Amino acid sequence: MAAVKACNVLITGANRGLGLEMVKQLLEVNCPKRNIFAGCRDPIGPKCAELKELAKKHPSIITIVHLDVNDPCSIKESAKTVGSLLGESGLNLLVNNAGVLSPGTMLSTPDEDMHKAFNTNIMGPLIVIKEYLPYLRTAAKACGESGMSCDKAAIVNISAVLGSMTSLPSWYSQFPAFSYNVSKAGLNMITVCAALEFKTDEILCVAIHPGWVSTDMGGEKAPMDSRESVERVLHVLSSLTETQHGGFLDYTGKTLPW
Ligand code: NDP
Repeated sequence: MAAVKACNVLITGANRGLGLEMVKQLLEVNCPKRNIFAGCRDPIGPKCAELKELAKKHPSIITIVHLDVNDPCSIKESAKTVGSLLGESGLNLLVNNAGVLSPGTMLSTPDEDMHKAFNTNIMGPLIVIKEYLPYLRTAAKACGESGMSCDKAAIVNISAVLGSMTSLPSWYSQFPAFSYNVSKAGLNMITVCAALEFKTDEILCVAIHPGWVSTDMGGEKAPMDSRESVERVLHVLSSLTETQHGGFLDYTGKTLPW
């Protein structure tokens, strides 16, 4: 199976769920110069224990970075720290993975949940993109070859089919998550705008739906486990070129309607 060979990777929300699984699978690929910057909002808390164990075993590959996507100062600080470690090769792959979901319809969702979804699922990825952009540009320039790929310089926004305006009607009665739906649609728009703005930089931008997965967010009834989802997402990422720039894809590589 093709593998993501990006040297320098940043993943937000890397302490559990799909983010942690992505760290694990990237470790399995033989890539001697790999550096994984694993973002976590509470590196000393119990929810980071597994990631810390992993970082202890692979100190030359994993760097745990304090990164709360709800806190612009934390994002800026993290970018300074990561930037100082990256050097001239820059950041090849940025995965905006951290996300929150609160159930509820338009009428039952409290304003507080709307703010939380917007801050975490829209403002967080947006500020992360802006703060890490200089390092993505450095990586794109350092590559020396034209074209786009996740190994060269890419922004991958982990979105959801529940953010698809076209697909939502078939899901909404089963999974009403109004704040999540609206926020992931917003993240999709960020992906499209980023693709337009960073095209000349040759930074690949895509939104990916990882499938319905049995994480804390996806719940026990989900038909796919994290291992399979991440395997398939990484396989899709390894094959992306400028053809998919600005697209919305699922874990099989199929293009989804907005
Ligand atoms: P989980 O709930 O299992 O994990 C969410 C991760 O996001 C945790 O690491 C959590 O950290 C982190 N996070 C939440 N808020 C913040 C914050 N403010 N700052 C930094 N990190 C934060 O979810 P999944 O792993 O399932 O989801 C990962 C991504 O995949 C999300 O964007 C989600 O929307 C998307 N997705 C998931 C699907 C599924 O079925 N599971 C389906 C479609 C999309 P902490 O431990 O500190 O809370």
